[in-house]
Amino acid sequence: MVHANDPSLKSWVQVSPGSDFPIQNLPFGIFKTRYLSPVAGVAIGDYVLDLVYLHENGYLDGLGLPPGIFNQPYLNNFLRLGRNATTRVRGRISELLRQDNDELQGNPAAREIALVPMLEVRLMMPLQVPNYTDFYSSEEHATNVGSMFRDPQNALLPNWKHLPVGYHGRASSIVVSGTNIHRPKGQMKLPDAANPVFGPSRKMDFELEMAFVTCAETPLGHSITTAEAEDHIFGFVLFNDWSARDIQQWEYVPLGPFLGKNFGSTVSPWIVTLDALEPFRCDGPQQQPEVLPYLRFNGKKNFDIHLEVVLQTSAGEEVTLCRSNTKYLYWNISQQLAHHTVNGCSIQTGDLYASGTISGPSPGSFGSMLELTWNGARPLVLPDGTERKFLEDNDTVIIKAYAENNGIRIGFGECRSTLLPALP
Ligand code: CA
Repeated sequence: MVHANDPSLKSWVQVSPGSDFPIQNLPFGIFKTRYLSPVAGVAIGDYVLDLVYLHENGYLDGLGLPPGIFNQPYLNNFLRLGRNATTRVRGRISELLRQDNDELQGNPAAREIALVPMLEVRLMMPLQVPNYTDFYSSEEHATNVGSMFRDPQNALLPNWKHLPVGYHGRASSIVVSGTNIHRPKGQMKLPDAANPVFGPSRKMDFELEMAFVTCAETPLGHSITTAEAEDHIFGFVLFNDWSARDIQQWEYVPLGPFLGKNFGSTVSPWIVTLDALEPFRCDGPQQQPEVLPYLRFNGKKNFDIHLEVVLQTSAGEEVTLCRSNTKYLYWNISQQLAHHTVNGCSIQTGDLYASGTISGPSPGSFGSMLELTWNGARPLVLPDGTERKFLEDNDTVIIKAYAENNGIRIGFGECRSTLLPALP
């Protein structure tokens, strides 16, 4: 067991019972206060631990960290140190925050500076994202979309169970939680119309996804095996892959998603490490037919993480739209990375690899409005009596997630963004 994950660990920092950030989590992010430029921090309870302060004052000595590694606007250079280094840093932070450790706890002046109340910080985009790939790894989602857009009898295309289908997305429009998105404009073809029209999307949607972040880079020509994949993965963020279904449906043949997707994707600010998720490993769905040798793997490669999407109306009313779980994913992250690099594609530090919409077997677990309302055919009725076929202007979409066992809850915070009206 990773010692920092020990369920019996307690921190001298007060952590309320429902908190996403107990001492067993320690996710990394970038934050800013009124006084500082953006720097790296770790979440603990209702506080952000300032890693620049810890590093500059000797609390992280002996870990071989380069000077200034946390005094940067992105975590990329820290991640580039690799899994062993980042695991050691998380282990040392765990030690410093333990109830029985007096190094920081016993120095009130240092404690006061190192722990910044979460309410006083602004959480920033944690990564400079060089590349973004979006997979399509939920069988339920692929089946639902295939049924609606093509043919219910042949919803899954012949390749789907042989390889993790994916496409290269757009890194420039990935933004952090709290950044709002304007309804996109584009071409769409209305049913029974002979020609397309141009205008604001009428079918705006969210997609409930998780994305993993890569650390160790690979050169062009190199392939990563399923056994090696996790050495290249630092952790996970929540990911809302905003989608304009009408633009998507008209443009996607034959090359796949383009302007219906690339106007914005929202990520959560805290990167929950793969280390913290160790206790939540589980088996994925049985893969049948058997996959090719390069996609075979050993051990438990899926994760049991509860997911929830909440809609907040402009009046402030909140309603849960769906509950799903990362464990439903047919293709796991090791298979995704092995497939992505089997042709020699290089990976870079800070790349984001999103799962694709994570839908489960029951209608309440569908991870998009497209599926929840069956392309608008079955509108959702909200508690305030209004209906939703797709998202309305000023709707806020909030993705939350947590893993829980042995009384320990590892949360992801929030991935929140409001859909603003189309720009003129
Ligand atoms: Ca997607």
